[in-house]
Amino acid sequence: MTSKIKVPIVDYHVTNACNLSCESCSHFSNFHVRAELVTPERAIDELRPWADRLDPDLFSLVGGEPTLNPHLAEVTEAVSELFPGKKRITTNGFFLHKHPRLPEVMKANNVCLWISLHHRSPRYQQHEREIRKLVYPWLMDGVDVRFVESDAKWQRFYRATKDGIEPIGGNQRKAWQLCPCRDSHPIYRRHLWKCPPLAYFSDVEAKLGDQGEAWDLFRQYKPLPEDCTVEELRAFLREDEPQCSLCPDSIQLFQLPDPIPRKH
Ligand code: SF4
Ligand code: SF4
Repeated sequence: MTSKIKVPIVDYHVTNACNLSCESCSHFSNFHVRAELVTPERAIDELRPWADRLDPDLFSLVGGEPTLNPHLAEVTEAVSELFPGKKRITTNGFFLHKHPRLPEVMKANNVCLWISLHHRSPRYQQHEREIRKLVYPWLMDGVDVRFVESDAKWQRFYRATKDGIEPIGGNQRKAWQLCPCRDSHPIYRRHLWKCPPLAYFSDVEAKLGDQGEAWDLFRQYKPLPEDCTVEELRAFLREDEPQCSLCPDSIQLFQLPDPIPRKH
């Protein structure tokens, strides 16, 4: 048996779909690319080869918006069989009420809940009040629930243009040093990826069309297959990659426009 390699965070998309449209989302979920819903069987199938190879400090169930997947509780149980250590579900919380089993599943499986807040508008705050009311009894019952003001330090990863996206670009090393998602390694399409923007770029390009030569380095990136060698896995954990030179090398904070679509 191969010994496991320590990694900081493994990300796993429970679904690509999202109900919000946060500008410069690092998962490109604001472009609403494809609404795949992971089942417990698919999670086991995709993650099992990696469960014997990786020992993450944190396994993160993300999206998209995870609560749009009706199988979220069952997927969480399936993931926990393979990764019994610390886990987190990150959600904007709008559909938590559709998952009545989730509190008991989280408590039983070492899973905490991060509820990210994305705006301060009155209609967003109305949703926030409802979410707080829903999860208060969960908290009282011992579920680890935290609210995170994501909009307070919202960063630009790429520039939106009228036809899609363009890289901001900068110094490779500095961009990696400042990157908030440098330690989050997605398992996606059975491969291990450096970071969410690299994992989901091809999906956004499939939806928006060719985004030009400026993104060639992203297209050339090769994620690790599940049958990679130990040496390849160790090399994967090197720090900056040439692709980091397409990311900003300074923190580009901006005020996130209200991400709730008008029909809400
Ligand atoms: S709620 Fe999260 S996943 Fe959805 S668009 Fe906003 S940042 Fe992206
Ligand atoms: S390419 Fe590098 S700098 Fe850009 S998001 Fe990924 S890890 Fe961060």
